[in-house]
Amino acid sequence: MDKLSIVVPCYNEEESIPLFFPAVEKEVNKIKKLEVEYWFVNDGSGDRTLYELRKLHENHPDKVHYVSFSRNFGKEAALYAGLQATSGDYVVVMDVDLQDPPAFLPQMIDILRNSDYDCVGTRRVDRTGEAKFKSFLSSQFYNVINRISQTNIVPGARDYRMMTRQMINAVLSMKEYDRFSKGIFSWVGFQTKYLDYHNVERVAGETDWSTWKLFKYAMNGIADFSQAPLSIAVWLGSVSFILSIIGIIFVIVRRIFEPSSSVFGWASLVCLILLLGGLQLLCIGIVGKYVGRTYMQTKNRPIYIVKEKQ
Ligand code: UDP
Ligand code: MG
Repeated sequence: MDKLSIVVPCYNEEESIPLFFPAVEKEVNKIKKLEVEYWFVNDGSGDRTLYELRKLHENHPDKVHYVSFSRNFGKEAALYAGLQATSGDYVVVMDVDLQDPPAFLPQMIDILRNSDYDCVGTRRVDRTGEAKFKSFLSSQFYNVINRISQTNIVPGARDYRMMTRQMINAVLSMKEYDRFSKGIFSWVGFQTKYLDYHNVERVAGETDWSTWKLFKYAMNGIADFSQAPLSIAVWLGSVSFILSIIGIIFVIVRRIFEPSSSVFGWASLVCLILLLGGLQLLCIGIVGKYVGRTYMQTKNRPIYIVKEKQ
């Protein structure tokens, strides 16, 4: 008998939970010699999500468990809490809105059981039903991060993935405060097989990710897994330094050979001062981002706080 743990982060999902559970049950019941446990994480929902989870737990006390946070800590924290609670030989991470098709579960288990792969991930091959601008931004994000970071982030990869206990322990050993799962799953290494599928829309409720929120998430991801922005600051500084040396030499030489010439005027000077001032602020800002993250990490605050656990 193998054991599969299903980790499900939920934030304001009262409508999705009653649809999610039977849909997943139907698939896992097809798998032979498998014991299943569910770990739902209520990420400080403002609706009746916790009530739905309690109800589910009462109906299936041995199978369905939940962790409920004291407030909203974000999906990354919810995933971490869920993973920590699991005890299965295999662990799968799923969204509750059925955008991660449960029909893949038997195939995923099959691959992990019968091959050397440590992880089966999923990848969306299209983004129908999503705003053009959002798709454009996300494809640019993958371009940039893969160019500047050593960690390879697969375009379109979802958080929906099944992993072996060994890989889960590796993921759990990364206790960083700013968690960027896409990067963490890739950073720990191991062999991952990707299954492709077409985009599925939510069964109920609404996504909580605005374009702006996604943009900030992407920027944080870059800061978490690359130090390239710091090098950009160094490069900008070096280039403007070299240019200013050339300028100084030019002015001195002209003064020697053409003593009557005066300086070009103040407009160009003001532009230069503004340019350099701007560059300096930009670079300090970039450095500040990293210092800020170091600050948060050194405080060593817990990643989440549990109010109720069953
Ligand atoms: N989620 C969460 N905490 C949050 C936001 C989202 O636990 O602060 C959960 C949400 O309930 C869902 C999953 O993360 O199960 C993915 O969220 P969503 O469907 O909004 O994102 P998308 O599928 O559009 O990427
Ligand atoms: Mg979703």
